[in-house]
Amino acid sequence: MIAVLRFGHRIDRDKRITTHVALVARAFGADKIIITTKYEKIKENITSICKKFGGNFQIETGVDPKKIIKQWKGTIVHLTMYGDELEKSLSKIDKTDDLLIIVGAEKVPPYFYESANFNISVGNQPHSEVAALAIFLDRYFKGKWLTKQFKGKIEIIPSNKGKKVISEKGKSD
Ligand code: SAM
Repeated sequence: MIAVLRFGHRIDRDKRITTHVALVARAFGADKIIITTKYEKIKENITSICKKFGGNFQIETGVDPKKIIKQWKGTIVHLTMYGDELEKSLSKIDKTDDLLIIVGAEKVPPYFYESANFNISVGNQPHSEVAALAIFLDRYFKGKWLTKQFKGKIEIIPSNKGKKVISEKGKSD
């Protein structure tokens, strides 16, 4: 199980970015996103994308992050520009363990830094939780997420020109 814990989503500011964090988590091979703020709309959006494009991605919102962290049996990674080097840290992570990846929005309290087994930076410049998560997962899976089969009702066929889409008749909405 690879889960992403999205901490500190602000309803007024972070709607699109939290949606993108969830989409990247799903597309790049995570199994679940846990959003600490209660947020039904995003749950509906992501569930609808999963119905169309396949996979078993799960989404939970309105969850106490401390409870998740306390109960987590596997490894905990916190992505932060203050963290240790990506490649060095990746080599220390046991890939047979469940993995919880924490990404912030607003300022992340010290509790998360202290609870993580690994505070990891994706470069030491401030950028984005979407970029940090994508690069982390890409390196974690060594690019293998690209060939993951989602077996959705809709499948996109790579194409240089135009849109090639296979849609199972009567199933897609
Ligand atoms: N001060 C923050 C930090 O600790 O990285 C930057 C805030 S940024 C708007 C929101 C989130 O993006 C952070 O909580 C972190 O998860 C992620 N992030 C931004 N830059 C990062 C970097 N260089 N490496 C890893 N994660 C980063």
